[in-house]
Amino acid sequence: MNTKRMKELGEKRSVIRELFEYGTKRKAEIGAENVFDFSLGNPSVPAPKEFTEELCKILEKENPAFLHGYTSAPGDLSARTAIAADLNERFGTAFGPEHLYLTCGAAASLTISLSALVNEGEEVVIFAPFFPEYTVFIETAGGKPVAVPCEWPDFQINFEKLEAALSEKTAAVIINSPNNPSGAVFSEESIAKLGKVLLRAEEKFGRKIYLISDEPYRELIYDEEKYPFVTKYYKDAVICYSWSKSLSLPGERIGYILVSPENEEWKNLYSGICGAGRALGFVCAPALFQHIIPKCVKMTSDISVYKQNRDLLYNALTKMGFEAVYPKGAFYLFVKSPEPDANAFCEKAKKYELLIVPSDDFGIPGFARVSYCVSSEQIERSLPSFKKLAEEYSL
Ligand code: PLP
Repeated sequence: MNTKRMKELGEKRSVIRELFEYGTKRKAEIGAENVFDFSLGNPSVPAPKEFTEELCKILEKENPAFLHGYTSAPGDLSARTAIAADLNERFGTAFGPEHLYLTCGAAASLTISLSALVNEGEEVVIFAPFFPEYTVFIETAGGKPVAVPCEWPDFQINFEKLEAALSEKTAAVIINSPNNPSGAVFSEESIAKLGKVLLRAEEKFGRKIYLISDEPYRELIYDEEKYPFVTKYYKDAVICYSWSKSLSLPGERIGYILVSPENEEWKNLYSGICGAGRALGFVCAPALFQHIIPKCVKMTSDISVYKQNRDLLYNALTKMGFEAVYPKGAFYLFVKSPEPDANAFCEKAKKYELLIVPSDDFGIPGFARVSYCVSSEQIERSLPSFKKLAEEYSL
């Protein structure tokens, strides 16, 4: 570890954090109801009632030593068995508990997978716009991020640019669909083509190139799209999942890594994942939430609220003259900045008490992210402010 880099990481606040701090201050000054905070991706819809009931039941019924004790490092067998059975039923796959490793959320799934897959100096391709922590995670694993831009208006993969970015140094490619911050969902066609391109690259460069699919928003898709489960399109795939968004449990830190059994080297990879989890000191995923997984593996929060918010915000803003990516999933609207500098745009938005995030940290200039995992009522009340902002740009 590089102590200087760690200190810098600790000191450098992300734009999202800064905006959040600003919002807290502003809310204290003028009242929370007068600030339209669209900065964070913290789910506003609570975990389902059935989940809370199961949690209460398990707390009353089970022996606390079992409930709160260490589990095996890869996770409790009944939780892993339940997850595998659910995936097999939904996606027609053939996973078993031996392919799953439970983690402290998608962030841990990513750091563990990257540590297991990337050697010092190797490259990891990411698609912009991307979750800003990717660069931190990749560099901490000793890798070098190589960004490939996705393009307006649909933010699907640009295969020419992807092929130009792949090399003998590429250890992995990360995808995130539905995407934070664009809300784009990669089509089945894109995923199928990605599988073919990566297979060709493996042959060309004579090495494994892993596809890491970061899927915390997998259940948050609004338009009846078929979700292309990546292991069906590419054998050297690793899935990083969490219940942070789908069950509204971001603070509980629970997720998993799935290695595809189609990969002939999956056992070695799985050992590497166990080793990386150990080396990074994760010990085991939170036990209480592991024990509740068999009961809630089929549950999601009420995502109809996000769909309603998506429709409300997208329709209202585009009617005002803003241009935005049509978000098919996740809970973010990616709005084109009406001036080249998205930072200046987001500063102007603050005048109308609108807190939205400039896109530069997501690896792409000229956009702003509006998180709509807020109450529909907040969106309704914010529309006159967005209208004033649109008028300032004569949209
Ligand atoms: N990946 C993406 C794309 C995210 O947006 C987030 C959180 O917002 C994460 C990973 C981390 O998720 P978790 O809270 O499960 O660690």
